[in-house]
Amino acid sequence: ATPMSIIAGVGRSAELGVLVRDADALQKAAEVDTVVFDKTGTLTKGEPKLTALYTFNGFDSQTAVQFAADLEQSSTHPLAKAILEHAADLRISPQTVSDFRTLKGLGVTATIQHKAVLLGNRALLEQHSVALTEAESSFRQESEKGATVVFLAVEQMLAAVFVIRDPLRDDTAAALSRLHRQGYRLVMLTGDQEKTAQAIAKEAGIDQVIAGVLPEGKVQAIRQLQAQGRKVVMVGDGINDAPALAQANVSIAMGSGSDVAIETAELTLMRHSIHGVADALSLSRGTLRNMK
Ligand code: ADP
Ligand code: MG
Repeated sequence: ATPMSIIAGVGRSAELGVLVRDADALQKAAEVDTVVFDKTGTLTKGEPKLTALYTFNGFDSQTAVQFAADLEQSSTHPLAKAILEHAADLRISPQTVSDFRTLKGLGVTATIQHKAVLLGNRALLEQHSVALTEAESSFRQESEKGATVVFLAVEQMLAAVFVIRDPLRDDTAAALSRLHRQGYRLVMLTGDQEKTAQAIAKEAGIDQVIAGVLPEGKVQAIRQLQAQGRKVVMVGDGINDAPALAQANVSIAMGSGSDVAIETAELTLMRHSIHGVADALSLSRGTLRNMK
């Protein structure tokens, strides 16, 4: 494209709520054939809510929520908000902990009342040899319905399972079907567990799921798609997504996302909708007039 049409493209993008940080990105976007989405906060609303709580090994729900809230008060993860909201509903206030640690893509740990407490996904609890047999059936049922299952262990003993749901944005499925009609292959990339990711992907209309990946694994996944000859646009919102955004051929951040993602991305969606991705890609191909 000539510089004049690039300038026009940037102007038209702004009208559509797509902020262009790098004008070259619009040209590069015309070559893309694959759109990779982060799940949480990108395809979903990013406002997870607790929908069920199971307790084990003699723990009661009051105690379980107290431990979980103690841990999550220092976390910025969207799942932490769901647990803290539930605690607030029960008028449980978080107490201070020691040795707090965030394990990216896994969960959080701390010492509470001289006890080692873990809160996070299956992989985290398995790393610490916590027996999960009793939670197996609730885990399977809930994750097959698209819920995220968060495990709590105290002194290596399974204490509770928190079931948390983060529904798709209202227009995600419609925007993805628009991208399908435009001919793109649609991929979901997430740190969440496989079954949960598959259920949500099915509801959204995603072609390929890459689940259970740590932040560094997200970069690897993009590299692999590129090695298969694919030109990839990555759409993300979180701090965890910044390296993957940088690796992609073109990067798009949700405007509601973290500052890091927005600083990394070439394009930023000011409307919190995947329709912005379809708009930006149509615009880059010069076919926007014909779409919608
Ligand atoms: P995503 O790719 O969906 O943004 P993350 O990489 O941030 O996911 O996290 C992957 C998984 O690790 C989450 O689905 C959750 O099971 C677990 N996890 C991470 N942080 C926390 C936390 N603060 N509390 C509970 N679970 C967590
Ligand atoms: Mg995320």
